[in-house]
Amino acid sequence: MPRNFKSRSPLGPILESRIEPATTPKNPHTAQTQTPRRPRHDHPKRGAPSTGGNYQFQKFGGKRRPDRPRRDAHPPAHQPSRGPLKTTNIPPLAPGAIRIVPLGGVEEIGKNMTAIEIGDDIIVVDAGMQFANEDTPGIDYIIPNTTYLEERKGKIRAMVVTHGHLDHIGGIPLVMDRIGNPPIYSRNLTILLMKKRQSEFPHLKPLDAHIVEKDSVITAGNMRIKFFGVTHTVPDSMGIIVETPYGMIVTPGDYKLEQSNGLVSEREEKEYKVFDNQEVLLLMTDSTNIENPGWSTPEKEVHKGLETIIRSVKGRLVVAAFASHIERLMKIIEVAEVLNKKVVLEGRSIKTNIEVAIQADLIHPKKGTIISMEEAEAVPKDRVIILSTGAQGEEFSALMRASNKTHKAFRLETGDTIVLSASIVPGNEMSVQRLKDNLARHGVKIIHYRTSEVYVHSTGHGNVEEIKWLHRKTHPKFFIPIHGHHYMLQLHKELAHDMGMPNENIIVPDNGSIIEIRERGTKITMLKEKAPSSPMMVDGFSIGDEQDVVIRDRQMLAQDGMFVIVATIDQATGKLKKSPDIISRGFVYLKESQDLLHQSRMIIKKTVEEGAAGQNPINFDYLKNALAENLSKFLIQKTAKRPLVIPVLVGV
Ligand SMILES: [Zn+2]
Repeated sequence: MPRNFKSRSPLGPILESRIEPATTPKNPHTAQTQTPRRPRHDHPKRGAPSTGGNYQFQKFGGKRRPDRPRRDAHPPAHQPSRGPLKTTNIPPLAPGAIRIVPLGGVEEIGKNMTAIEIGDDIIVVDAGMQFANEDTPGIDYIIPNTTYLEERKGKIRAMVVTHGHLDHIGGIPLVMDRIGNPPIYSRNLTILLMKKRQSEFPHLKPLDAHIVEKDSVITAGNMRIKFFGVTHTVPDSMGIIVETPYGMIVTPGDYKLEQSNGLVSEREEKEYKVFDNQEVLLLMTDSTNIENPGWSTPEKEVHKGLETIIRSVKGRLVVAAFASHIERLMKIIEVAEVLNKKVVLEGRSIKTNIEVAIQADLIHPKKGTIISMEEAEAVPKDRVIILSTGAQGEEFSALMRASNKTHKAFRLETGDTIVLSASIVPGNEMSVQRLKDNLARHGVKIIHYRTSEVYVHSTGHGNVEEIKWLHRKTHPKFFIPIHGHHYMLQLHKELAHDMGMPNENIIVPDNGSIIEIRERGTKITMLKEKAPSSPMMVDGFSIGDEQDVVIRDRQMLAQDGMFVIVATIDQATGKLKKSPDIISRGFVYLKESQDLLHQSRMIIKKTVEEGAAGQNPINFDYLKNALAENLSKFLIQKTAKRPLVIPVLVGV
């Protein structure tokens, strides 16, 4: 059901009944109140709103008010006409040259997407998403800017996807239509995860998905593409090789190495054998852990650690993990089954991912191993393992709700042991602290990576020694560091340089940088022109790269609230019909600010009546701007706050 917009309007009933759009306002703030009010579901381009409201939004680790409608089930509307082409300043690709355009993932961790263009063909590697943060209040998530691709969609031959994490596949449902729905290639589990996500957008075309194996070869236009298997936290992760006349372009996606004390496993060596005696023209690779020295902890050590805990713990065990660590989730279920324990899955993303892993034939839990929370009531406590989301203290995750007693079925008890099988993602420190505090109030035992005697977590990305190993194995001529904040990419550049690569062979890109390999594969250069790169914000139904005004307003509202004035003007005399109405939210407590209100009304009256004097007809735009300016100035002086001032003028 579309929500009832009138009852939730922050402006109250006055605006609903009294606004008459008088003129076309130029001020973006006044513009909002003058737009005929239309519920967001009723988008002009799409006709009647969909009513498919049963779909749940899969938001791993995000914060969403539970009472907000699940908007992803509805058609995301496109922005109004995108206007003239935006990339006409970019020169066409010269014959024989190769162009690389990182569209996302190189000034951040997340929303990875890279285009590779050779001749008349483009392939796109990954299309990820990123969750909103404090800089983008109210935004659902962010995807890469695809303008460059949209304007060249006739050249796009394939989308090739490295693995099934949201920072690599999350943008796909929103991006595919924009870039002409090219065929998608990936391995089985990744395809299943993408299809699952696509099914949450029922109005979209199904994906033209093709399963490849790591020894497959595909052709996309004139490009030949090969793959190799990589170790990550999700099965079926793969690296991509594009063959060119001058050597291979290689990108492994997210990877770490299977190794023990720096001795890389034979299985792993075999995967990378493909680069022996081969020219690698260009390597583009992950910089996530460039600041972590040494080798990463092998995942099998974490499996051992968790097994030790599962075997030894008395009472009920809760393991909170990332839903994206599918291998770890699978292992816990496997160990539980061996020890004749039952597993309860809590949290939608964990349930979904296990369901997909079963569908992909990666695990085969016996009937009765995975049970519901209600069924677990009848099982002795020390035979129950709860696999839960929420290790980052996400506000509405299963574990957080259990910890603050708002979860209906999942209740914590003294005697429970809780393993936080995750490190703290930077930025989540406070929410994890809150989680631990909440948990501690239940008298439970908490084991986390800093206090545990055994490994309970390791990263999915290779540390510096693994990064070096990859550089040695692939021995590229040119190098573009990707996946990381700018500083990380710089560090990665320094690493490649220290390993012997000339600086002129390395390009540190920004999102939208256009990099070309020219002169028969002998020179790499970055164009001065850039592809549009402002991030596309997905906000309810709208997707767009020009939401700065909206975001700025939200930031102002969050800081100092809003101050709405509604004034009725007699058009014949230019005088106010009555004392103006003032409505505010999040600014000051009006009941205790009578003097401020009184003075504000005087300023409104003075501004309107002096401004309108001698005008016929009255220039409403002029009056609104004058009101916003005078009131803002006055309120700052009186309160040292800057609320969003919204003047509404009604002419009668
Ligand atoms: Zn990943």
